[in-house]
Amino acid sequence: MIYDSHIDTPSQLLRLRNVEIDNKHGHVDFPKLQRGGVDGAFFALYTPPQMAPDAATRYALEMLSATYDVAERNPDIAAITFSPKEAAKNRKDGIVSMFIGMENGSPIQENLSLLRTFYRLGVSYVTLTHNGDNSIADAASEGRKWNGLSPFGREVVAEMNKLGIMIDLSHASDKTFWDCIEVSKAPVIASHSCCRALCGHRRNLTDDMLKALGEKDGYVGINFYPAFLSDRFGADPAEAALLDEAEKTDQYWRLCPSDPERTEAWHNMQDRLLNIWRPGIKEVVDHIDHAVKFAGIDHVGLGSDFDGICVGPDGLEDISKIGAVCAEMRRRGYSEKDVEKVSGKNLMDAWQRVINCSELES
Ligand SMILES: [Zn+2]
Repeated sequence: MIYDSHIDTPSQLLRLRNVEIDNKHGHVDFPKLQRGGVDGAFFALYTPPQMAPDAATRYALEMLSATYDVAERNPDIAAITFSPKEAAKNRKDGIVSMFIGMENGSPIQENLSLLRTFYRLGVSYVTLTHNGDNSIADAASEGRKWNGLSPFGREVVAEMNKLGIMIDLSHASDKTFWDCIEVSKAPVIASHSCCRALCGHRRNLTDDMLKALGEKDGYVGINFYPAFLSDRFGADPAEAALLDEAEKTDQYWRLCPSDPERTEAWHNMQDRLLNIWRPGIKEVVDHIDHAVKFAGIDHVGLGSDFDGICVGPDGLEDISKIGAVCAEMRRRGYSEKDVEKVSGKNLMDAWQRVINCSELES
């Protein structure tokens, strides 16, 4: 059983990715999902923090529409999926479950009816912020606007509890995290985050945060992005400069994805990034070990961030290779039952608990 709590493939659909074929450049497509034995993944509707709210709403809807389009064109392969129960049925039928997440709550603007509408369209978690404070809460990379959750953010959390939408605290500031631990009546998640004790990035989770997620019956999906796995990644100045250039190349491509020159520039950049030092499967499982130690074996999973990161770890270049994480866990002595928990069962269970809480609330 493999479920990934965060991939950014909807952004790639708007960059004209054809997920029906095996792409040389690109982390996720149907052939890779099938080869990797992936039963389902959260397709994140990611909107950049610098986008104005109206533009963000429109962009999120365009991504959502593109995601529905590929599912509807491939009913024998994949389906938009609204609940863990539906996911279990899809798994029996050999269909990949496409869950919908929203990364950065800015498409909700300051309007709970938009939250409800996105929920009706399948959005099952909302990552409250990306790398910028928004109307809901402060982000890890800024953290200046509200000192945690905004007054509107508190309404959003209450409404998400009522509807059974998971509150995702990846990217949130530490204060936002603790506010949600206090305020949310349901378990909360971090769909794609690593451990700060092993890699000092400010958006990684401290041991206290991991412990709190476990105690609240929530979930953390370990992110595969090399910069969140190891402080060594990009520490060399030349490599840091290349990563900056990669960011610019990607942004330039996003503005005109049909331009073949921009597409090629991005693909060349991806090839160059494969040549710099990257952490590997060992580091991913080190983060899993650490998270299990503090959050508990029932609260840790995989949130690869594939298609949202410029490069994957050594040996985990795309989602078809995700099973290597399970193999390394077995090698370290995890039981088959525990491997299954981390590779997907914990995500489904946490989601179900959030739904169960909503039924009590409404
Ligand atoms: Zn992210």
